[in-house]
Parts: sequence; structure tokens; C-alpha cells
Amino acid sequence: MTKSNTVPDAIQLKNLGYSFKGSALPILNIPTWQVARNERVFLQGESGSGKSTLLGLLAGLQLPTLGDVDILGTRMSSLGASKRDRFRAKHLGVVFQQFNLIPYLSALENVLLAAQFGTSGGAVARQRAIELLERVNLPSSLHGRKAAALSIGQQQRVAIVRALINEPSLLLVDEPTSALDHNNRDAFLALLFDILADRDCAMVFVSHDPTIGQMFDNHVRLAELNQVAGRD
Ligand code: ADP
Ligand code: MG
Repeated sequence: MTKSNTVPDAIQLKNLGYSFKGSALPILNIPTWQVARNERVFLQGESGSGKSTLLGLLAGLQLPTLGDVDILGTRMSSLGASKRDRFRAKHLGVVFQQFNLIPYLSALENVLLAAQFGTSGGAVARQRAIELLERVNLPSSLHGRKAAALSIGQQQRVAIVRALINEPSLLLVDEPTSALDHNNRDAFLALLFDILADRDCAMVFVSHDPTIGQMFDNHVRLAELNQVAGRD
């Protein structure tokens, strides 16, 4: 018997609806969507089409207005806010569009702060953080540098390491390449695929830029999923 019959999908959406508070118009209406374990999906949509809103729902930062968001077999609406925070810290890696690093902490401290919320702490986490930073071509001379003093490309790589430090089962990436030129963008994507190659981790990578999709097996347009009228 294969294990895949018993392991829940990374993502399962059913009749998902989302409207911002005070707004009558829904932003998202997704009847159904699944992402399997270890699947890497490129989700493309125009600016303003709801990509970041959807990632916020997948990360459990918000709850849906209607329907179900099941992540790794856990229904987000069954958890209160602090349990969702813990779930996210333990099982998910999130790379926000603006990276959200703490500017006055060093590269290494930003990663170690995230490691505190995972299962391995102390010296083990520190060693893993250093190895991962080096793996993304951030040499030890940069580990002690404040995030605010790193280049955009360097901040982006710290954000990836921070997202991976707790060995997530699902990585959510919000178009972090928009601030990079094409060479740096391609190098970043190559690095991301390389680092994921030996990990059991699903990924949803969102961007407005359809050319990025060439690097993914699975390419989805948000417009195909989202049934809200008049949106991309
Ligand atoms: P994308 O990431 O694809 O650019 P977003 O998910 O950020 O799109 O936004 C989708 C839509 O929701 C946009 O029309 C945006 O203006 C609107 N929106 C985003 N955040 C809020 C908010 N806090 N309140 C009301 N509307 C919002
Ligand atoms: Mg966005």
C-alpha cells in the first residue's frame, strides 16, 4: 500500500470565499483546489487579482469568509489565532513580498528568531542556520550584518532561509522576484529549486510574471481557479 493514500494534501480548498471586512464584493471565490505533498505550483495572476490575499488564507493569517481551507490536513478555521500562529511557525514557511525581516537584527538573528518557534532550538538550530545561509551564498562575513544593511537580493535569501529553518512541509512564496533584475531572478529561482530538491516540501509560488512559470511543472492561473466575476 502506498503512503500517498493516507497522507492529506498540502492544500485543499473547498468553496472558499473571501471578502474584506466592510466590503460587499468578494475578492475570492474558489470552488475547489488541491496541491499534493511535494508538488511545486506556480500561481500566476495580475496585480490586484488576489494572490497575496489567497496566500494569507493559506498561511492562516486570515480565515475565509466562507468555505474550508485545509492545510496539511488541518482545517484553519478549527484553530484559534494563537494556535494558527504556532501551526504556521511549525509547519509552514512563508516568504512575504517585502520579506518582513527585522531590520535591526542580523541575518543570523532573523533566522534564529524563527527557529525558536520550531522544534529544534539552541546549538542545533544555530548550526543549521549557518549551513543554510552558506547554502544560499551568504558567507559568514554577512551573518552578523543587520538586515537593513543587506542588499535586496541578500535580504531575499535570508528570508528564504528563515522560511526553511523549521523544515516546513509547505512553502508559500509571494512574488519576491519583482525587485530583482532578470539575471538575479533566474539565479534566485535556481537556488530555490536546488535547496528544495532534497526536501519533502510542497510550494506555492505566486507572481504576476508569467515567464517565471517556465521553471515549474505545474502552472496555474488564478483566473482559472477564482470564479469571482470581472477579475483576472
Ligand atoms: P495581488 O497580491 O494579486 O496583487 P491582493 O491580494 O493584494 O492582490 O489584493 C486583491 C484585491 O484586494 C485588490 O483589489 C486590493 O485592492 C484589495 N485589498 C487588498 N487588501 C485589502 C484590504 N485590507 N482591505 C480592502 N481591500 C483590500
Ligand atoms: Mg501581492
